Amino acid sequence: TRYVFDFTEGDKDQKDLLGGKGANLAEMTKLGLPVPPGFTITTDACREYLALGSEPGELRVQVTMALRHLEDDAGRQLGDRHDPLLVSVRSGAKFSMPGMMETVLNIGLNDASVKGLTEVSGDERFAWDSYRRLLQMFGKTVLDMPGEVFADALDAAKSAKGVTSDLDLDVDDLKALVATFKEAVKEHSGAEFPQHPREQLDMAIRAVFNSWNTERARLYRRRERIPHDLGTAVNICTMVFGNLGDTSGTGVAFTRDPASGKTGAYGDYLANAQGEDVVAGIRNTLSLDDLAAMDPESNSQLRKVMRRLETHYRDLCDIEFTIERGKLWMLQTRVGKRTAAAAFRIAAQLVDEQLITLDEALSRVTGAQLAQLMFPQFDPSAQRVLLTRAMAASPGAAVGRIVFDSPTAKEWAARGEAVMLVRKETNPDDLEGMIAANGILTARGGKTSHAAVVARGMGKTCVCGAEAMLVDAAAKTVTVGATVLGEGDLLSIDGSTGDVFVGQVPVVPSPVETYLEQGLETATQGVDEETADLVRAVDRLLRHADSRRRLGVRANADTAEDAVRARNLGAQGIGLCRTEHMFLGERRGLIERVILASDAAEREAALAALLPLQRQDFTELLEAMDPLPVTIRLLDPPLHEFLPDRTELSVKVALAQAAGKPDPADVTLLAAVERLHESNPMLGLRGVRLGLLTPGLFALQVRAIAEAACALAKAGRSPHVEIMVPLVGSVMELYLVRDETDGIVNEVTAAAGVDLKVPIGTMIELPRAALTSHRIAEAAEFFSFGTNDLTQTTWGFSRDDVEAAVFAAYLEKGVFTVSPFESIDVDGVGRLVEIAAAEGRRTRPDLKLGVCGEHGGDPESIHFFHRVGLDYVSCSPFRVPVARLEAGRAAV
Ligand code: ADP
Ligand code: MG
Ligand code: MG
Repeated sequence: TRYVFDFTEGDKDQKDLLGGKGANLAEMTKLGLPVPPGFTITTDACREYLALGSEPGELRVQVTMALRHLEDDAGRQLGDRHDPLLVSVRSGAKFSMPGMMETVLNIGLNDASVKGLTEVSGDERFAWDSYRRLLQMFGKTVLDMPGEVFADALDAAKSAKGVTSDLDLDVDDLKALVATFKEAVKEHSGAEFPQHPREQLDMAIRAVFNSWNTERARLYRRRERIPHDLGTAVNICTMVFGNLGDTSGTGVAFTRDPASGKTGAYGDYLANAQGEDVVAGIRNTLSLDDLAAMDPESNSQLRKVMRRLETHYRDLCDIEFTIERGKLWMLQTRVGKRTAAAAFRIAAQLVDEQLITLDEALSRVTGAQLAQLMFPQFDPSAQRVLLTRAMAASPGAAVGRIVFDSPTAKEWAARGEAVMLVRKETNPDDLEGMIAANGILTARGGKTSHAAVVARGMGKTCVCGAEAMLVDAAAKTVTVGATVLGEGDLLSIDGSTGDVFVGQVPVVPSPVETYLEQGLETATQGVDEETADLVRAVDRLLRHADSRRRLGVRANADTAEDAVRARNLGAQGIGLCRTEHMFLGERRGLIERVILASDAAEREAALAALLPLQRQDFTELLEAMDPLPVTIRLLDPPLHEFLPDRTELSVKVALAQAAGKPDPADVTLLAAVERLHESNPMLGLRGVRLGLLTPGLFALQVRAIAEAACALAKAGRSPHVEIMVPLVGSVMELYLVRDETDGIVNEVTAAAGVDLKVPIGTMIELPRAALTSHRIAEAAEFFSFGTNDLTQTTWGFSRDDVEAAVFAAYLEKGVFTVSPFESIDVDGVGRLVEIAAAEGRRTRPDLKLGVCGEHGGDPESIHFFHRVGLDYVSCSPFRVPVARLEAGRAAV
């Protein structure tokens, strides 16, 4: 097996094998951009290493060969005592996991080569600064030492000297630090820091492999739905130096603003610095404009490279670069992460610039991003007390109680508290706290800092670099001027403007929400140009999605009010109207009478009383959707759900009996509750079974539907109603219901003198229904996949019981990467859907197929439903725009 590829060999499409970083380094090399030479160890090697617990022998040999080539081309050898070649060892998985895995710089330095580096660079301070960095990174990432050991020693050295910047340490300070660091390494690991360059290299490679499985990397992958078995590649890259004095430096840049999507490059730069200094927020960074003023030549090289990359990738790119004595080096690029607003604006811009087509633009925005843009924002007209204004790092309006560390954030969030994580800066260990928090606020770092990058990735609101803010985590206070806030105080942050407010600011609908509900004109009135631009981009891409999608989008709605909302949001019908709520509230008494009736006459009387009420419900709903289709599901849940709680009632009756005055009504009621009690209601007397065993129940509903529709038709409207029978497992059940239903519909339409078709169909939510769909289709004019129940019955999971108890462990153990209730289980449940769709259509070619489970609003599931050729998805009203967009994306 080939485990090692030179940067000159790969390209950007080999992310599976070379990881994202490696593939893009190869691509840039191919483009002739200035990338320091190097090679990539494949993800295969990592998987192999993790399985074996040691590197395959062949890997060592191939690394030797690649290293020798590198040395020969450079004319220098790794760690040579006179003119050392130094390398970095960098992780790089297929999907970027910012800050989750390890990188070690300056591999090859030791007590001898540090002198050689001094000679060839003519800069002794630089050489020792590099050596102390190697010790620090090696100790932390390879030897697993606590980072504070080094950070504290560095702080101590600075305060002993009375300085605050690492730049103020001189050669002797750095030499002393190196000695201290080496001592610490020995103390902690029981062995000397490895002086042999190849040993350093091998240890660092192993550390990168191992970093794939750290707790925080696993957590990040679970959250981002990245499989655990991909492994990471390792990039060995010739070192270039940003810490060679003032004409050197290192930076991070975006070809467009990743927060707002504004055109024009955006970046952070630090002179005389190396590697992580920028991201870690060690010193406050400079802008690209500052760089242009300092070093116009490097700046113009950088601009050219960025333009080249945008032309090549035809998208926003982010890059990591280093300038070594006036020469630009590219150390990384990738198509950059961006906020939801930036995604829409950039996609539209690129269409305008004629770099991409509308179809491509559509494929670059996601339903999840659209959903984010629909979140509420702070009310601009509300009273608010501005605490400070900082960098808008990740948009949203977040309110929470201040906490200063991750464990507290987790703990408070677990008990239902909204928390605001306030830190000087974040590091990868803060991941859990960031997940738990509503918002993240940091005192240091720019838009490319750890907090900003991770928050954007998670879609979490973040404001960073609030320099006016003094965070004292030990004392649990945050101070701005005269204002001092403590743990538990409320704070509101606006990640779109960077504003930080004291207390809780009320929220209002976002402009995108306004657009979706009231149209483009209303939404673009009286807003700033950036907002208007965003709304126009959303409009353009959503309209394009509508023009491309083959899937219809309907909504699940039970009331006229929801139906109107869904319709405004673009729903093309109601895919599921549940009728159970129509028996709740004041009507509970009526349905109780139906259940408790001692004879047929009594039951019929109770049902008759329900008829006008039901008719009214359906009239309102059909009117609201006219002439769009409305699918009404007959009553599904078991009857005991309409009776009082068994335990409460037993206690009440027992107490009354003990007191000697039992209420006969309660006694009867309890008897009914006991009679209807089921140990597993989900699989009990519900759905079509309930309809077949409760005389008159479905008939009542069907009559109400038919009468409502006929009345509307007579009034000149065009009602389009479909009746759906739940939980069918056998075609016989459906035939029985159909006979009764057709009879009633015919009778009602004939009496009204209206020619009205009422299609009758069924839910497919039992494996047996899916597997006998060729039969069921004989009696059904449409199928609607009830994927919630179908998932329960296919897996044998009771959703309410397993979600908390089992799923956390299953996600952790990798049984699945996402809950099958969230995203459809393509292999199992999906296969049943496929079979039922194909075989149902074989029986009845014009069989209409839809989905009404929660999966109908889930992006990945929507793509699946598109692939298997369903006609529509139905989801909750507020997911309708998301479904429209994703259905369009599935089609391009
Ligand atoms: P991450 O994936 O966390 O961004 P990288 O492997 O990109 O980690 O390394 C982080 C930083 O270290 C880079 O942005 C760059 O500044 C620095 N770095 C990595 N390799 C080199 C190198 N060969 N020469 C100089 N700097 C390097
Ligand atoms: Mg990087
Ligand atoms: Mg169901």
